[in-house]
Amino acid sequence: MIAPAHWEAVQKGPVIFYHFQDPPWSDIPHGFLTRKGGVSAPPFAALNLSHSVGDDPAAVAENLRRAFTAIGLGAEEIVTAWLIHGNRVALVDTHHRGQILEGTDGLITAERGLALLMRFADCIPVLLADPALPAVGILHVGWRGLAAGILEAALETFERGLGCRPSALHAALGPGIGGCCYAVGLEVIETLRPRIGKALPLRRINGAWHLDLPEAVGLHLRHLGVPSVITAGVCTACHLEDWYSHRAEHGRTGRFGTWIRNP
Ligand SMILES: [Zn+2]
Repeated sequence: MIAPAHWEAVQKGPVIFYHFQDPPWSDIPHGFLTRKGGVSAPPFAALNLSHSVGDDPAAVAENLRRAFTAIGLGAEEIVTAWLIHGNRVALVDTHHRGQILEGTDGLITAERGLALLMRFADCIPVLLADPALPAVGILHVGWRGLAAGILEAALETFERGLGCRPSALHAALGPGIGGCCYAVGLEVIETLRPRIGKALPLRRINGAWHLDLPEAVGLHLRHLGVPSVITAGVCTACHLEDWYSHRAEHGRTGRFGTWIRNP
C-alpha cells in the first residue's frame, strides 16, 4: 500500500486548496485547488479552470483570476498543457513562461521559481520533486497514460535531461478516482497488463472489476525506482463537494487545478 499523507486545507479569500505537509513537500510550493470559491454555474460549479468543457469563458477567466490570486502566481509565471491522455513529457524553462504546450501530459522543470499547472477530474495528479537539484514535475495520469508509459517517460526526462535518477525523486499523488468508484472493462485491464504486469490492483464489487488507479500509479512508480511515494488517499467521485469527477458527473463537469513551483 502507498502511504497516505498528511495534508491540510488553506483558504485564501473564497478559494480553498490543499497541500501536503510531509517532508520534503512542506518546502516545495504546491497545491490542489478544490472546486470551491469560483463563479461557474452547475454543472461546472464553481472554480472550473478549463476552457474546454463547455463552461462560460467569462466565468473561467474570473475563476483563473481568483485561483492565481489565491496561489500568489501570475499567468505569465506558469506553464500549462493541453492534456490528451498520452505519454509526452516536456522539459520546460523560462522560455516557456505563460505558454500552453499542446498534446503534453507531463511537465518538468529545473528553472527556479517556474510554476507548472494542470487540470483534473478523476485522472491522478502526480507531483514529482528532486529537492536537492531542485527540480519538479507534474503529470496527468489516467489509465491510458499509464498504459502508454507516461511514468517511464517522465523518469527518463528527469534522468536524461537533468541527470536526476529515480532514487532521488519524491512522488505525491493528489485526488483522483479511487478503487471504490472506478469500474473498468476488460479492455482497460488487458491494455494495462503488459505495462504493469500481474500487480494490477483490482477488486470485484457487485460483479464488476474495479481498478484502484492511485494504487496502480504509486506501485508502478516504486517499481520504477522512486522510493518515496505518498498519496492524498481522496476519491474524487466520493467527494463531489470538493472535487470534480468525470465519471460520477457523467462527463459534464469542470476541472480543478493542481500546481507545483520549483523552489
Ligand atoms: Zn470513491
